[in-house]
Amino acid sequence: MADIASSDAFSSARADAPRISFVSLGCPKALVDSERIITSLRSEGYELSRHHEGADLVIVNTCGFLDSAKAESLAAIGDALKENGRVIVTGCMGAEPEQIRDVHPGVLAVTGPQQYESVLAAVHQAVPPQHDPFLDLVPAQGIKLTPRHYAYLKISEGCNNRCTFCIIPKLRGDLVSRPAAEVLREAERLVAAGVKELLVISQDTSAYGVDLKYAPSRWKDREVRTRFFDLARELGGLGAWVRMHYVYPYPHVDEVIGLMSEGVILPYLDIPFQHASPSVLKRMKRPAAQEKTLARIQAWRAICPELTLRSTFIVGFPGETDAEFEELLAFLEEAGLDRVGCFKYEPVAGAPANDLGAAVADEVKDERWKRFMEVQQRVSARRLKHKVGTRQQVIIDSVGPTVAVGRSKADAPEIDGVVHVAARRPLRVGEIVTVKIERADAYDLHGTAVGY
Ligand code: SF4
Repeated sequence: MADIASSDAFSSARADAPRISFVSLGCPKALVDSERIITSLRSEGYELSRHHEGADLVIVNTCGFLDSAKAESLAAIGDALKENGRVIVTGCMGAEPEQIRDVHPGVLAVTGPQQYESVLAAVHQAVPPQHDPFLDLVPAQGIKLTPRHYAYLKISEGCNNRCTFCIIPKLRGDLVSRPAAEVLREAERLVAAGVKELLVISQDTSAYGVDLKYAPSRWKDREVRTRFFDLARELGGLGAWVRMHYVYPYPHVDEVIGLMSEGVILPYLDIPFQHASPSVLKRMKRPAAQEKTLARIQAWRAICPELTLRSTFIVGFPGETDAEFEELLAFLEEAGLDRVGCFKYEPVAGAPANDLGAAVADEVKDERWKRFMEVQQRVSARRLKHKVGTRQQVIIDSVGPTVAVGRSKADAPEIDGVVHVAARRPLRVGEIVTVKIERADAYDLHGTAVGY
């Protein structure tokens, strides 16, 4: 769940304004939706409440990706009904409202993902706005739910792929890219407002612009194509760190690696491989499953030796055999990925994967997950150790009395490790400092600030 309480969404609270309590569940893409809804609400004079109790209304932005996420969403709606009673539900689960109404018939309204206007209309009906044009102005960059120094930049909605374990295309539809100029304008506003790191997200970042046939749009004095490489190059010119998430290993990604080696964008790629066995990837219908991934990774590292690769995998996919699982472990050893997450397959209702093979027994899934993590921890620790003795630029996320915590270019917020930084002078959140790395443990680095 997003920690909205630490965001700047609560600033300038007015005693007489209608108050809304907001719960944001799910992935960064859902968080961006929450930001948009909250920005609109704040611009209309609504205030945010830190608690359900005493608020005029609760909005729950749900996640419907996995059954466990659905259960969490339903529980959050239940809590909101108990503590407040007036609840509007939106987000991925809202695409199938009966799932919510069957359990919680008392909710006021249910709207689907990206239906900002419907959410606002439902709010207006439940609690009419009290507009004050002098007090209700929001900052030009909107309200960010992330800390001030980094922000997610959503470049498209939906997905053209049909991975068999995923119902996102069913929930969110086919790929719809935002024109490059629109994305760049938002990014520029964010940077002007103090954002130091832009995290580019979508369901499939490498497919950006396919739906628009890479049409150019006007940005400053030039035309910029709606295309992964062109957008990455322009974003890299804005003066902030630019980090790419959800990229698939298609050949055209190679040119973006060149931008990384030139220092235009961060040498970091988040590629959800999900598996390495060709037969499992085929059953998963993964994008770029036919690509020679190991060769591609080697080529990328030759172009950009400091490249950090993060990925996620699924173990226990229906029909996964011992041999297929061993292929995955061998890939892990050879690929030498820096950061890896692993999930045990969960049969999401409505996903075709459930019928593609025999379900893998829970004990086997547990056992495979454990073996996977053991191998990867060794690989990750080995790669981290190579950083001891180097100097890394670190962006500071939080400061304590003696040690600050930040992230190097190799660490995305929330999902990767951190760098613990000792310093002679107090550091500020959002500051980027040079740190001499002195020690590595399984996930994190430790060092001293040597350049400010
Ligand atoms: S790429 Fe696959 S897993 Fe990702 S959103 Fe699209 S269909 Fe789902």
